[in-house]
Amino acid sequence: MPKPLWDDDDPNLDGGRVVSPVPGVRPGFAFGAKPNPPNRYKNPQNRHTGTDWPGREGAPVVMVGTVGDAPGVVTHVTYDADYGNSVRVRWEGHTWRFCHLSRVDVNVGQQVRPNEQLGLVGSTGHVFGPHLHLEQSRTATWAYNDVLDPTKGW
Ligand SMILES: [Zn+2]
Repeated sequence: MPKPLWDDDDPNLDGGRVVSPVPGVRPGFAFGAKPNPPNRYKNPQNRHTGTDWPGREGAPVVMVGTVGDAPGVVTHVTYDADYGNSVRVRWEGHTWRFCHLSRVDVNVGQQVRPNEQLGLVGSTGHVFGPHLHLEQSRTATWAYNDVLDPTKGW
């Protein structure tokens, strides 16, 4: 399928490519960075397992990818003390986890297309302020050695 051209109506689309999972917000705290103080992340390497987008509370969170790509499927909608409200989407052979949401707008089993809204930025779980933490993993379930830098993955 040919890729759409720049969408003048949506500055988050560049040639149909979603340029940020939080439209208008650039990535902040980077994948692989070492937090200070340490022990913020429960993995042996003590490295950041995703990338943060410091969006304001309530900002939309959208699916990554390029418009026209095959949809992903929502595999989990969960709450836990670390990730807060999070949505996992299986897409392009990877699992994408959108974390700390204040609101979730999708359900397990639902197909989601790039640029489709998944929920809202929040500060649920173990956070110091509202932001999106996005993880990309090769496996269907999370494993540290399988995580990738989500700013390079689409
Ligand atoms: Zn993070």
